[in-house]
Amino acid sequence: MQQIFGLPARRCHPYPVKRPPRLQHIYTCQCPEWEFAFSSRRHALAGQGYRYQCPECRTVLDYSGRQRLE
Ligand SMILES: [Zn+2]
Repeated sequence: MQQIFGLPARRCHPYPVKRPPRLQHIYTCQCPEWEFAFSSRRHALAGQGYRYQCPECRTVLDYSGRQRLE
């Protein structure tokens, strides 16, 4: 069965959620275990030519094509 992610079906939540989930864009470097979650704003900057380096291996972070909600 495939799970559908999104808003819960019931809307009678006892209190409002403080912060809506934000979409994070996953970037990776050459470190096997590392991944970097970029905000949409940072992701847009990267698309405009900004380059972000991994503090460990010093390679330029590469967009993995994956996203997640956080
Ligand atoms: Zn690295």
